Amino acid sequence: MEKEMHYDAIIVGGGPAGLSIGSELSKNYNILVIEKNTAGKTNRSWFVPLDVVDEDIKPYTYGGVTRFLAKTFLGANLSFRAKLFDRYPYINENTILPHWVNIIKDNNSQITDNCEYKNHTIDNGIVSVETTKGVYTGRLLIDASGYNSGIVEKYKIDRRNFYWWSVFGAIGEHPNGLGGMEIGDYMMWQTFRDTNLHIDTSLENGRPVFEYEILNENTSFSLILYLRKQQMSRDEMEKEYMHVIRNEDSTKQFRDITIKELKYGWYPSGTLSQQIAEDHVVFAGDAGCWTTPCGWGMGFILDNYKYFSQQISKALATNSLDKKSLLSIPHYKAHQKYEILMNAIATHFLSNASAYQLDKFINLFYTVDPILCEKTFTLKMTEKELVEMLKAVLKTFDLRELMHIIPKQDYLLVLEEAKYFMEDSVVSEIHNLFDCFQKHRIQSRLNNGFDFVR
Ligand SMILES: Cc1cc2nc3c(=O)[nH]c(=O)nc-3n(C[C@H](O)[C@H](O)[C@H](O)COP(=O)(O)OP(=O)(O)OC[C@H]3O[C@@H](n4cnc5c(N)ncnc54)[C@H](O)[C@@H]3O)c2cc1C
Repeated sequence: MEKEMHYDAIIVGGGPAGLSIGSELSKNYNILVIEKNTAGKTNRSWFVPLDVVDEDIKPYTYGGVTRFLAKTFLGANLSFRAKLFDRYPYINENTILPHWVNIIKDNNSQITDNCEYKNHTIDNGIVSVETTKGVYTGRLLIDASGYNSGIVEKYKIDRRNFYWWSVFGAIGEHPNGLGGMEIGDYMMWQTFRDTNLHIDTSLENGRPVFEYEILNENTSFSLILYLRKQQMSRDEMEKEYMHVIRNEDSTKQFRDITIKELKYGWYPSGTLSQQIAEDHVVFAGDAGCWTTPCGWGMGFILDNYKYFSQQISKALATNSLDKKSLLSIPHYKAHQKYEILMNAIATHFLSNASAYQLDKFINLFYTVDPILCEKTFTLKMTEKELVEMLKAVLKTFDLRELMHIIPKQDYLLVLEEAKYFMEDSVVSEIHNLFDCFQKHRIQSRLNNGFDFVR
């Protein structure tokens, strides 16, 4: 190891967050990325909203999702063309990550593979990072080590209220053609009759949701998804995935696929009470829970890595690296407070609603413009559209049913935020419904880490 080197920033994790941020910071600072495996290799793949793709990202995209589908055990069989962006491009994981690796190296910063973070200490503003390859020192530690971060654990950052995506699937070749599916298709929501025999069954107990993307004339990426409080094991998921593609009648186009590559992993779903900085330590990507209810973890990174890096560059330049200063800088963009509210509600809904309720939700898009579906899950709604969507939801679900889905600790937050788009009389009626309303407990939790445009 480079014994005497003292880095401006040490980044733990050579995944999308660590490498993208490293590629920016290395323009002006001497950084080190440590990766326990090989930086730039991943068993994930991504499609993202078009607006996170700028000129720097464009060369690493291909194809895209152009048609959304949903098929539910209640009989909804929805199909609509993407409206918000016409297409949602795929990011080529085999080229974009090596691209960032090259930038970091060209800028004379370091990447060390097979080097696992073990622990760190901070003394007099110097962070000493203990790894399997020795100790490195720097001014700032950036945790980009993903969903299972040892640094998050070290600081005992409370993630009890987090939800987790557990995902397992495969790139498969269809030797007998696509059986009616089209290139650009994205099955965003398929549930199975035998998953949900009882209408009260929460998805927490039921089987996963099936999704697929059609990449070209004979290739698909099909997968199962769970959004749960607990993470599913890889073995459990593999067994279930194989059952779904090989045995279910409703997924018979996948029965004869030749599996080319397994894709799987776990990642957090958005929450509101994350703690995102410590003295000389910041968190990014999945380690910082940069994600949305739809699971746009990569989308969120692409949308924010330059912005985040600019803020961190300023903090490095002024040596404002204590916890208070790091917490006070906006870490990522959120345009309106209600986007964050939507994030919380959608996450609770996707995880806690019964499969019956979720299927009812999908059926809404027979009556409301499906662009609202895209906007809900890309957090691109205007205030007016949010009200429209809420009205449709309230026609379909009664308030008590909805409140059953949102955990008690978030009622207050929902009520507080409801003020942004509801009349006072409606808010006070809801307050009466939940006489537990205590304003002082809400404080300004929402402001941490966000840069509100409002
Ligand atoms: C199958 C699958 C499909 C997905 N599809 C999409 C999609 O379509 N669109 C989208 O936007 N998002 C998608 N996501 C989410 C997205 O992949 C994640 O949000 C994103 O990878 C997060 O990047 P990251 O760099 O924060 O973490 P990671 O990708 O997890 O990278 C973290 C890196 O840190 C390394 N590391 C961990 N611990 C240590 C340690 N102790 N020392 C050193 N290194 C360490 C790991 O080896 C890894 O390389 C998907 C996820 C999965 C699993």
